[in-house]
Amino acid sequence: MSEAKKTEGQKLQESLSYQRKNYFETASKEERKEMFDYAEGYMKFLDGGKTEREACEYAVKEAKEKGFTEYHFGDHLKKGDKKYFVNRGKSVVVFRIGSKNLEEDGFRIIASHIDAPRIDIKQVPVYEDSGMCFLKTHYYGGIKKYQWTAIPLALHGAVILKDGKKIEIEIGECDCDPVFYINDLLPHLGAEQMGGPASKIIDGEQLNVLIGGLPYEDKEVKEKIKLTVLNILHEKYGMEEEDFLSAELSAVPAFKARDVGLDRAFIGAYGHDDRVCAYPAYTAVLNNESEHTVLAMLVDKEEIGSEGTTGMQCKVYEDLMEEIAIALGANFRKVRAASKCLSSDVTAAYDPNFANAFEKLNSSFISCGTALCKYTGSRGKSGSSDASAEFVGEVRKAFAECGVIWQTAELGKVDFGGGGTVAKFLANLNIDTVDLGVPVISMHSPFELISKADLYSNYKAFLAFMK
Ligand code: MN
Ligand code: MN
Repeated sequence: MSEAKKTEGQKLQESLSYQRKNYFETASKEERKEMFDYAEGYMKFLDGGKTEREACEYAVKEAKEKGFTEYHFGDHLKKGDKKYFVNRGKSVVVFRIGSKNLEEDGFRIIASHIDAPRIDIKQVPVYEDSGMCFLKTHYYGGIKKYQWTAIPLALHGAVILKDGKKIEIEIGECDCDPVFYINDLLPHLGAEQMGGPASKIIDGEQLNVLIGGLPYEDKEVKEKIKLTVLNILHEKYGMEEEDFLSAELSAVPAFKARDVGLDRAFIGAYGHDDRVCAYPAYTAVLNNESEHTVLAMLVDKEEIGSEGTTGMQCKVYEDLMEEIAIALGANFRKVRAASKCLSSDVTAAYDPNFANAFEKLNSSFISCGTALCKYTGSRGKSGSSDASAEFVGEVRKAFAECGVIWQTAELGKVDFGGGGTVAKFLANLNIDTVDLGVPVISMHSPFELISKADLYSNYKAFLAFMK
């Protein structure tokens, strides 16, 4: 309808009402192309970084290509420096020192995580039964266990041999590699299995990864298939069974990231949570030219509570920020108080196929841009840092000035469940923090789905936040 034909009421309604916008719909032809181009780089990151170790390495490689150099505690720092700090090979902070006064301006931080739900191999994993050799596992993060059966799996990780040598393992990603597998029961015999609750379709101790089936050619040997498997590991990696004791191996989906839909609007992949925020976070810092001191944190262990030496609760990130403040002669307490953070993690996109789980007014919608969650938590916002209206207002203004298409989100209906992010750990340091991230369909499944528009909106939002 043309403006002239609109009634007073229609015009008033338009000016007063809030409406989400589909970013594809509002984007120009050029911007749509930018979205698709940006997605290419992201999909390479997904395929090249299926574990936190690999994602960390990938980000470091890209940072080096952009002239960033490694930082160690105590190093001298000056304005304009482009640095990255690696924590135990599993988390990385990519940062750039700005020209503004650090005590007055603080840091602009984007905090994301690069671990993802998966199937971890136990420390004494190998056994043989009924013509098959398996690895015992303990799943990592919140998964629907039945989704991980009968799909191709790849093995990733690191093994420390008894002499201390570290072996990196990646089997199942190349088309010429074998893959691995978790068995499921045929429907013909599945009456009892399918009659129970979905949480019981596959038990944790049934998530055994099939790794071999050829008996070793020696009549005198018991557990012949297990010996074949151990022998291959020994020939290929110098491993003995005891070396699993000091190994970190994970089975992850062997799928590559793929365009989804005839129009290729979406990306299906393993591990969008939270690499769809980690990639825009570090690329925004790499491409950033602002006067602020900006940090992209790519951390580990979010999926199991952000604990340990590589999780967001570890002092190392606070230590790093303090070291930067000291190196620039700034009072760290003042710096923290002036800092601002986007805790960047994914949220649940409204799904019309599961409408009952969502409250439609406050859900995020696919392709409507990156989603700001003022609060997370569960049962009365418990566990959430709940950002202030003032800070949300500040972020909103920055987005508006840069024309960012964004929306708000709440993770499902009240009391339907919930979840948390790293936001509270940053907020606890006296840093204004709010959650912002991409809406995901089928979150925590082996093949999650996001929109290319939301990926690009997230990147644009980070650039606006750091401007
Ligand atoms: Mn997450
Ligand atoms: Mn998650």
